[in-house]
Amino acid sequence: MKWDSVKLTGCCTICDTEIYESRLRYRTGLLAGKISAPAEAKLGACGITFLISDGSSVRLSFCGNCADLAHKNMGKVWAKAVKSQIWYFVNAEKIYTDPGMKAPIHDAKQRVIVIQGLYHHLDTFLLEPIAVEKWGDADA
Ligand SMILES: [Zn+2]
Repeated sequence: MKWDSVKLTGCCTICDTEIYESRLRYRTGLLAGKISAPAEAKLGACGITFLISDGSSVRLSFCGNCADLAHKNMGKVWAKAVKSQIWYFVNAEKIYTDPGMKAPIHDAKQRVIVIQGLYHHLDTFLLEPIAVEKWGDADA
């Protein structure tokens, strides 16, 4: 289990194993070589939708080994997911360095709104899993 690492796109929320095939990878910047756009899920990957304490919901992905751990570690799972989103946002200029990529947000006012929204989630918590999907099954 890796609770202090950043949850990267296309990877398990708990152990950071790649659970998606990559459609695109970062060519430059802080995440060079990592998945930038995921394609289909690998065999055994799992998506769990959680109810959040503010009434919204979120779907997070896990490898087959970690899916059961997610239910027992919702506090750590959510803290990692939220902190990772903040990390992506704060480091956007060092991540989206490829000339073909565009950092998602440039406008200063928009940046404030987004960062406030992300920090708001640090005050929320996961209440319970409400749906579990197994992806990448051969017969799915
Ligand atoms: Zn895992």
